Amino acid sequence: MRICIYLRKSREDIEKEKNGIDTLQSHESTLLELAKKKQYNIVAIKREVVSGGSLYSRPEMLSLLDEIEHNSYDAILCMDIDRLGRAGMKEQGIILETFRDNDVLIITPEKVYDLNNDTDMLHTDIKSFIARQELNLIKKRMENGRIRSVKDGQYIHNMAPYGYKKIVVNKLKTLETIPEQAEIIKLIFDMYVNQDKGAIAITKELKSLGAINASGNSNWSTRTIKAIIHNPVYYGAVYYQKRKYKTVGNKMTSTVNKKPIIVDGLHEGIITYELYHKAQEVASNRYNVPTREEQGIVNPLAGIMKCSCGYAMYLKKNYKATRLDCSNRCGARGTNIIRVEQRIIQDMKKYFKNLIVDFEQLNDDNKTSDNFKKIEIIKVNIEKKKQQLNKLYEFLEQEIYSTELFLERSKIISDEINKLQDNLGELELKVNDADIIQQNIKEIPKIQNILDIYETLSIKEKNMFLKSIINRITYYKNQDAAPDDFKLSYDMKISN
Ligand SMILES: [Zn+2]
Repeated sequence: MRICIYLRKSREDIEKEKNGIDTLQSHESTLLELAKKKQYNIVAIKREVVSGGSLYSRPEMLSLLDEIEHNSYDAILCMDIDRLGRAGMKEQGIILETFRDNDVLIITPEKVYDLNNDTDMLHTDIKSFIARQELNLIKKRMENGRIRSVKDGQYIHNMAPYGYKKIVVNKLKTLETIPEQAEIIKLIFDMYVNQDKGAIAITKELKSLGAINASGNSNWSTRTIKAIIHNPVYYGAVYYQKRKYKTVGNKMTSTVNKKPIIVDGLHEGIITYELYHKAQEVASNRYNVPTREEQGIVNPLAGIMKCSCGYAMYLKKNYKATRLDCSNRCGARGTNIIRVEQRIIQDMKKYFKNLIVDFEQLNDDNKTSDNFKKIEIIKVNIEKKKQQLNKLYEFLEQEIYSTELFLERSKIISDEINKLQDNLGELELKVNDADIIQQNIKEIPKIQNILDIYETLSIKEKNMFLKSIINRITYYKNQDAAPDDFKLSYDMKISN
């Protein structure tokens, strides 16, 4: 590790200096003492003599940042993290970012900071951390406020549901029935429960009656009908959190909340609870194309199969067969899932048969015991170099070496140590690879056994198994291709 010492006076230090103490000198010996104890390779010392507030009046810091960007150091050693930058968060931000982006550690007598480690970053970036915490608290308070309002029976959503308009009574948000729309709601529930009509039949019926929807026309959609059937507002309830939201990376996703808040509302219902309840029963018995969430995994290739256009492939059932189709409708022709699975299993059997031969070959080439011997020799040499480094510190202390001479020698030895450590790393990787190869050679027969009984697995097991060996399969097929005329390319988890 190449380390640069950075020294800078604080305001208190300037006070002390009035009493004749050379703070930079005393800091320097403290840090060198630490370096000796920990066997650090000090390759430079920077002394900030001017004590300006802003970054641009600190020439040593500027040259330090420049050298960090040119990969001169692996770590900075300083008295405490405040020495790096205390003038304003913006400036501190530039400094810390440069350290972080170049993987440079900050070492102080108390602690080693790795800015690529989240918790360390929070420590240094404490101000923005607090701001984020506050934001979360505000969000939570707002959410709690909304939940309290719902529990009071208030209707807190932006839009009134069809059949109602939003009103405020005694400062409480609630709904008022719109009589002519309420009649249509009653009609929809009646058709659904008592006349055995589905959403499609109901939309036709409403159109023929000329019933006006929320957008002011008669183009009712089946989605609207289904949403009405499942909305507890119509028997006089209010709800909150029907869906749960979660942020993954930068994307917000939502799922059905199995335990939403549903309580009696302040408003009057349009239908009875009994009728609403019956409608839910009818809905659960009626054949619906199940949503992916309800059906669990029915596609053994879920999550691994992509069309060549980049979109996922999905399963489409018709009276003849279950086909795998591009969800983007890019023009790639679909294929019967059975053909695709058969092809995959066939390809996998071939792949692993060849892979085991390759691995055995590689294993012979890797004369592991030789590598172990080399590793031992290098370790001994690194130890010797470290002893030489220790000598340097003694020479510096005894003033046999000047600081300049010390740095010069220390740099040479540290370069040598770095080279040895690189070689060591390479050898260790080789030994490690050999280990992985050994493990894989043991794993492959197990995989081959499962491939042989693939047909007997459940869909969920098939999916789990394929995901354990394959990262991604890409599907290629032309629009006018014959049924078996498709290509698959694989991104495998295990390869040589
Ligand atoms: Zn496609």
